[in-house]
Amino acid sequence: MDPRYEMVIGLEVHAQVNVKSKLFSASPTDFGAEPNTQANEIDMGMPGVLPVLNRDVVDAAIKLGLGIKARINRTSVFSRKNYFYPDLPKGYQISQFDLPIVEHGTLTIDLDDGSSRDIGVTRIHIEEDAGKSVHDFGDEKHSHVDLNRAGVPLVEIVSEPDMRTAEEAGAYMKKMRAIVRFIDVCDGNMEQGSMRCDANVSVRLKGVETLGTRCEIKNLNSIRNVMRAIDFEANRQIAIIEHGGEVEQQTRLWDAAKSETRAMRSKEDAHDYRYFPDPDLLPLKLTEERIEAAKAAMPELPDEMKERFIKEYTLSAYDASVLTLSRAGAHYFEALVDGKRDAKKCVNWMTVELFGALNKEGLDIHDSPISPDHLGELVDLIEDATISGKIAKTVFEEMWTSGKAPKTIVEEKGLVQITDSSMLEGIVDKLIEGNPENSELFRSGNDRILGWFVGQVMKETQGKANPQMVNEILRGRLRP
Ligand code: ADP
Ligand code: MG
Repeated sequence: MDPRYEMVIGLEVHAQVNVKSKLFSASPTDFGAEPNTQANEIDMGMPGVLPVLNRDVVDAAIKLGLGIKARINRTSVFSRKNYFYPDLPKGYQISQFDLPIVEHGTLTIDLDDGSSRDIGVTRIHIEEDAGKSVHDFGDEKHSHVDLNRAGVPLVEIVSEPDMRTAEEAGAYMKKMRAIVRFIDVCDGNMEQGSMRCDANVSVRLKGVETLGTRCEIKNLNSIRNVMRAIDFEANRQIAIIEHGGEVEQQTRLWDAAKSETRAMRSKEDAHDYRYFPDPDLLPLKLTEERIEAAKAAMPELPDEMKERFIKEYTLSAYDASVLTLSRAGAHYFEALVDGKRDAKKCVNWMTVELFGALNKEGLDIHDSPISPDHLGELVDLIEDATISGKIAKTVFEEMWTSGKAPKTIVEEKGLVQITDSSMLEGIVDKLIEGNPENSELFRSGNDRILGWFVGQVMKETQGKANPQMVNEILRGRLRP
């Protein structure tokens, strides 16, 4: 990106609330049901029916508000957002407008260099999802409407325009996903659409205070796409400005296949929606007891856990933030250390080998074929010098495919490290004898040749020789 410019980014995140029934009706919210089997007269917008607010959604929004240290409004109001679209049979969406349930929060994001930054969260409001138009029937003449999603409860989380890079936007999404998962408000699965993000992007010359004209990008179904779309969009806007043009305020669509954003429509303003308070719903009033009960039930949050990990296990801020991205990951780590193992070694095995293998297969830590107990045993086997770090990687691979305990694998395959010094000395002596030229090179000060000798011993012992011992013996024999 042109270094004279900076980006300004604000994110709107929609999270589907983990509850059994819809926001204003008793229809189930299960994913993947036959079209229109989970829509009753309320979801279909029949006349003469009345919405009844799902109290579990309200409690979820309170928890989320507490999770971002926000103000919980004791009174909030549901409004009608009016627009015409086939997937919206009522002709309006019930949302919250001028009085949302949550305002003025903060999300602390963790960046790759280990630093952190606070991003303002303007508001969180409760709203219902719309249905879905289905177009691909082959005949081009018909579109169908599936109302299973109509009325599914969402919370929309709106950030301040506080982010300045795509990395910060990615970090925001990661932390938001961690929080909704920790407090069990949403499964946070972007690919399946239970968490969605619209990114608002503008650019301005560095040093300029006023905000540039923004575009809002829709259809971002992964954190990677959020970041890619922002980068593309900022560069597009800079190119327009640099060519003497003006950025037009638009709603744009991200095309992941082409890696570009394209215009969808010019951006609507709030007044286009003719918002007004929904006369069918009373203002939502929250009692102090209800908020206190939610506070008491709050679990440890990612930031608190991160701080605890830094203190308790003397981890770096970066390691601690990676481990606390999910509760399952954090629990795995604590079970792995088990109050006795070296935390840094455990972090390395987890974040490099285990996360690497999980990512490669697209698996979640829940599905890890290697339990924390087994991985811990492997760390112990290296620690007590039963196996070398190199052999441990082979053992790890075997654990991954067979699910066997590392001890069993080491025994079955005869992988125990050779620490018998007389045996290693014998091998080393034979090697020196057989390679007088290389031995001379080392004696005359060429240290690099030592690696060649170690490599030969490893080859001879199928990688089982204890590398420290081999090094010592070699040095002793060649440069006494
Ligand atoms: P709307 O509801 O019409 O999309 P809002 O004013 O609620 O508009 O803003 C939506 C999002 O856009 C917020 O996350 C906000 O931080 C962000 N935003 C507002 N102005 C800008 C701007 N100039 N550049 C980037 N983001 C912006
Ligand atoms: Mg918007």
